[in-house]
Amino acid sequence: MPSYTVSDPAARAGAILEIDLPALAANWQRLAAETAPAEAAAVVKADAYGLGIAQAAPALWAAGARAFFVAQLDEALALRSILPQATVYVLNGLMAGAEADYLARDLCPVLNSLEDLTRWKQISRERKRAAALQIDTGMSRLGLDARDLETLATEGSRAERVPISYLMSHLASADDPTSQQSADQLAEFLAARQRLSPRLGAARASLANSAGIFLGRDYHFDLVRPGSALYGINPKPGQPNPMRQVVRLKGKILQIREIDAPRGVGYGATWRAQGPTRIATVALGYADGYLRSLSNSGQALVGGHNVPVVGRVSMDLITLDVTAVPEAAVRSGAYAELLGPDLTADAVGQAAGTIGYEILTSLGHRYHRVYLEAAA
Ligand SMILES: *Cc1c(COP(=O)(O)O)cnc(C)c1O
Repeated sequence: MPSYTVSDPAARAGAILEIDLPALAANWQRLAAETAPAEAAAVVKADAYGLGIAQAAPALWAAGARAFFVAQLDEALALRSILPQATVYVLNGLMAGAEADYLARDLCPVLNSLEDLTRWKQISRERKRAAALQIDTGMSRLGLDARDLETLATEGSRAERVPISYLMSHLASADDPTSQQSADQLAEFLAARQRLSPRLGAARASLANSAGIFLGRDYHFDLVRPGSALYGINPKPGQPNPMRQVVRLKGKILQIREIDAPRGVGYGATWRAQGPTRIATVALGYADGYLRSLSNSGQALVGGHNVPVVGRVSMDLITLDVTAVPEAAVRSGAYAELLGPDLTADAVGQAAGTIGYEILTSLGHRYHRVYLEAAA
């Protein structure tokens, strides 16, 4: 058999996703400095918001993060293998039938009900393992409601000998600084702590996600839980983004098509070239998380020029109108930037009728991923 050298993955791939780990680390450090003396955790659920927990978590640990939050138990088990020393919280709680995993792998559930609390008390009896206890102050999603709180306040034995590391709650409208809901939730959280005094009320507390951090010191308590801002999403919507951009997505131009008669582009011919038009076909599509709702609304950068996505996003391809770009700057094999410092996940989310979070967590698995490390 003739031997051959396996090709460069960048040459094979339709698109390249660059993840700037030093920028991620710098973002965590910026938030940690902003919130000290509170501790800054790192939320790395959903594969670190699509960026890759195997690379993101060690970078955050090296930056100084010691407490990590994931949503699911499987994510926590994976994280434990990556970071043997980290404190790992499972936001979705204590999964029935899988309790032994928390003990064996030293994972902390976020207890979301009195029933969770009772079960954790039973199974962690001898080991005195810490857990967080969530109070619902307005999300109406997970956590103790007002009635549970009253039960807990009056039946002190329920939480006896259960070490609660944090009383926590989650803000529903932190991304809207004009919303009254954050202040209402803060007041409800403070009242809940008061009501659970002295024992549980004295536990450390945690309320703020990324945007919550920027609502001010009153929201920081003992631990903040940023996720999105670490990955470059603007925690101050409507104001300049204080975070560094972490992702850059570059799609390869496969072909340039010159159209000179009126003619449709893409499925359903939802866009039609009216005069002489140059179309660049780029090798990524909705199967890669380039959302189909970006059909006729997305943007790309080609040779420094802003160009529109025209026609429908297909499974594996998109089409750009590059008529306005000088010919020398568009050729097959060149790259169109689809996400980056000048085309943020927030902006792409807006064009897609969603939020930057969904753009990041949709990032596909066919991209050639390049993790930029700190310069030695
Ligand atoms: C996802 C999540 C966070 C992080 O929120 P961001 O807005 O991404 O910073 C914090 N706390 C809880 C409970 C969460 O579910």
